[in-house]
Amino acid sequence: MTASETVHCPFCQVKIGEDVRKCRHCGEWVARSCDGCGTSVRGEWAARGLCAECQRRRHPTHAPQVPLAVASGKSRGLAAILAFFTGGIGLHRFYLGNWMAGFIYLIFCWTLIPTLAGWVEGVRYMLMDDVDFKARYSP
Ligand SMILES: [Zn+2]
Ligand SMILES: [Zn+2]
Repeated sequence: MTASETVHCPFCQVKIGEDVRKCRHCGEWVARSCDGCGTSVRGEWAARGLCAECQRRRHPTHAPQVPLAVASGKSRGLAAILAFFTGGIGLHRFYLGNWMAGFIYLIFCWTLIPTLAGWVEGVRYMLMDDVDFKARYSP
């Protein structure tokens, strides 16, 4: 390793001296000390003024906190609506993939029991939180 060794500026790709901290060509920081912890950082991190670790600590909520299942899957609102209006024939059960229960509702649809059960379940879906709902009804 000699002083004559060169590195490329990560921003404009121009060759610059290895000990250069700020690119003379484009004015971007190539290397500097981290604003958070003082360790020396290079390239893209230098431009941000923070090392990877400090970036992560400063913006800890970059990753979505909601489990993936919540974003895609069965709708709690729709299940509740189905339970309220078509609970008597078990449509909400079919919707949630619980076919056996759906058939039982269907078989007993001439009684009022499935309708009442549908209302109770509709209320339960409404009160349930999304994460609970998905944990229970999404495969
Ligand atoms: Zn540059
Ligand atoms: Zn740092």
